[in-house]
Amino acid sequence: MSQNNKVILVTGGAGLVGKAIQTIVEQEGREDEKWIFVCSKDADLCDFNATKQLFQKHKPTHVIHLAAMVGGLFHNMSHNLDFLRKNLHMNDNVLQISYETGVKKVVSCLSTCIFPDKTAYPIDETMIHNGPPHPSNFGYSYAKRMIDIMNQAYHEQHGCTFTSVIPCNVFGPHDNYNPESSHVIPGLIKKLFDIINLGGDTFTVMGTGKPLRQFIYSLDLAKLFIWVLREYNEIDPIVLSVDEESEVSIKQVAEDLAKAYNFQGKIVFDTTKADGQFKKTASNQKLRKYLPDFQFTPFSQAIQESVDWYKANHTSARN
Ligand code: NAP
Ligand code: GDP
Repeated sequence: MSQNNKVILVTGGAGLVGKAIQTIVEQEGREDEKWIFVCSKDADLCDFNATKQLFQKHKPTHVIHLAAMVGGLFHNMSHNLDFLRKNLHMNDNVLQISYETGVKKVVSCLSTCIFPDKTAYPIDETMIHNGPPHPSNFGYSYAKRMIDIMNQAYHEQHGCTFTSVIPCNVFGPHDNYNPESSHVIPGLIKKLFDIINLGGDTFTVMGTGKPLRQFIYSLDLAKLFIWVLREYNEIDPIVLSVDEESEVSIKQVAEDLAKAYNFQGKIVFDTTKADGQFKKTASNQKLRKYLPDFQFTPFSQAIQESVDWYKANHTSARN
């Protein structure tokens, strides 16, 4: 590799999104980019000195910053302070050290679940700061919103190209299946796997099943992330989501999972459990202007692949 080639450091590289990016770059096999995937074992990014040593070791020219405390609705509801503090620390350290070490571009990760609770739909990139987030995940939301504020400030004061993407709910291989902290799809993938293994005939899903969500397959998101790193030159964030018409209810998710497992029992809804925000419908119009022909994997196919991955890897998965 020549001196002018990119060295791309991916924080959170062992997680759901990081593993998907690794899969795609390995498929591409480009020789002009060196990719380095790191996780918490390499450095605790809440620790400024450890983060600095990590950057001094790898000397990245580009950073994809995925590392974060991440969790589903129920984990957020019980740990808002931890989500706020850990994510604020990590983001501040990664962006400041990127600036100090001359990193040319940083792409960080927001989420459609940080938008205002009371809002017009569809939500778009201009509306992030327009009102308080849903109370269930205000810690995560405010920490993530600050990334956009920091990106604007680093650009204004130092001319840095630090930007961010806004994915909708992500799922795929290497997800977090721990029932205490998982998002809905991996949580239900593990739950149904265990029910089937124990010979059960009732699949209980939390909440009413009525909330609506946009879900993106991690391998699709990975392709879009790599495109943002290489081609997207705005500081302002960009929504990386499936189209609005692809929004599905939690009930639909449960039914598609049952089909993927060929589960013939009944699905019931525990309405004593929280539903969270009813919907978070985001517009991907900005993305479509750049990439009008991008093909998302059909939801049922992505669900089948995710179930098949879990069946093959459940012993080593994050349970
Ligand atoms: P994930 O699977 O939980 O992975 C998180 C990664 O962050 C892991 O590699 C973890 O390291 C690392 N990490 C956590 N705390 C760390 C620390 N203190 N120091 C260093 N590394 C640390 O999460 P993900 O779903 O891939 O999420 C990636 C990004 O996408 C996050 O920024 C998240 O906010 C965003 N996002 C996710 C979703 C979603 O539905 N999952 C939706 C929208 C946006 P270990 O592997 O060592 O634990
Ligand atoms: P959100 O999209 O940020 O709200 O996070 P989740 O991925 O956790 O999705 C939450 C939605 O799925 C809520 O409507 C929950 O009631 C519903 N849900 C149903 N079963 C589960 C489950 O086992 N785990 C989680 N996290 N959510 C569930």
